[in-house]
Amino acid sequence: MIYDIHTHYWNPEDTSLTSDTSHLGIPAAANRKMSSDRHFEETKAVDRAVVFGLRALKSSMNIPNDTVKKQVDRAPERLIFFTSIDPTEKGYLDELERTHMDLHAKGIKLGPIYQGAHPLDRRNLEIYAYAQKHNLPIVIHMATTYARGVPLDYARPFYMDEVAIKFPDLKMVLAHLGHPWIGETIAVIRRNPNLYADISALYYRPWQFYNAMQLLVEYGTWEKVFFGSDFPFTTPQESIDGIRNINHITGNSGLPRISDEIIDEILCRNSLGILGIE
Ligand SMILES: [Zn+2]
Repeated sequence: MIYDIHTHYWNPEDTSLTSDTSHLGIPAAANRKMSSDRHFEETKAVDRAVVFGLRALKSSMNIPNDTVKKQVDRAPERLIFFTSIDPTEKGYLDELERTHMDLHAKGIKLGPIYQGAHPLDRRNLEIYAYAQKHNLPIVIHMATTYARGVPLDYARPFYMDEVAIKFPDLKMVLAHLGHPWIGETIAVIRRNPNLYADISALYYRPWQFYNAMQLLVEYGTWEKVFFGSDFPFTTPQESIDGIRNINHITGNSGLPRISDEIIDEILCRNSLGILGIE
């Protein structure tokens, strides 16, 4: 079984996303690759896939949670709905409760660098408290981005250490291994039993990806890492192939190989079971 913990969905025709998305958090190329049918088909490469939009008004990402839920309802046996809550939006806790209670969200997606609220902001702490109380895991974007206007500091995995200590029963997944702060992410997930990371959107930077995998091995932290694709930026199948082919990067250079067992373990990890939402 392969579970993809990280796929995006939005409706490209959504009036909030114009055809020129270059100034937004969504590159135009990704927007062209997104459609309901394409998401539906490409996610068939895995057994189950988590699906979320990203609500981030500051970055003009006004993706309604209902749009995402509608997509999940096309294949509820294999797609899992996560709500996305923008803490800067009026009524954000009501939206959290609505999407949890009425739309049956299984988890939450946050992106402080897109939303403009620091990971330790009071409003985010309220979301963490609700999530902990209701056993909703959080996937949080912790990585650099091309989107401008919010301090890069808001994307530092370092702050999630304090969050993990404050909310010991809240399970959180730091997306993209927190690139380029991969060492920082490993330090943080290693010491906090409730923190994990996903490996999405990394394989296409081969040198960084190889180093990330090797660091996970050296710190003995690969058990805290989940498979994810970041569709539509890459597809689940491309991501599986990218991970399986990791040892092609270093070839006969003499650099250590990543063992097939570790690759298989990451690909086949039961992330949904570990997060308590299977
Ligand atoms: Zn993403």
